[in-house]
Amino acid sequence: MKEIKQVEKLCDFCKTHFLRVHHSQKFCSIECKVKHRTVSKPQQALFNELSFLCPYNDFQLEKFVKCKDSGYHADIISESKKIIIELHGDYWHCNPNKYESDFFHHKKKKTAKEIWEFDNLRKKQLEELGYNVFVVWASDYSKTQNKVLDDLKNNVLGYK
Ligand SMILES: [Zn+2]
Repeated sequence: MKEIKQVEKLCDFCKTHFLRVHHSQKFCSIECKVKHRTVSKPQQALFNELSFLCPYNDFQLEKFVKCKDSGYHADIISESKKIIIELHGDYWHCNPNKYESDFFHHKKKKTAKEIWEFDNLRKKQLEELGYNVFVVWASDYSKTQNKVLDDLKNNVLGYK
């Protein structure tokens, strides 16, 4: 008879420790396994870096934050520090360094200007709830990862 050895593992999604039931288990829960699919690779990478750099911040991925009428999924959030970090894809959020305001985004069926307005409103509503919201452009993160991490670390740690 095989003995089931309980081994502590780190959840691939939320980075908390859990006792695995079988050796191929990567996530602490079904919930984490499902949520993992909606997280982009750079988002997961940034989360992993931040969790490593600032282990005392309770960073979470894709957490739903209730706002006035509806709510938003925050890319990365620390509830204790009231910090939200949004990793914006350059195409998906029409990086103003790359797109003109009248650019039409076919997937979103909106112009760049409308997308910026929506993103600003979202940021404003989250700030009204007391969060400090930082936006990181995916292209900046891939090109100058260390600088982005330093900036975030200084800002994030600068808040009491
Ligand atoms: Zn987990």
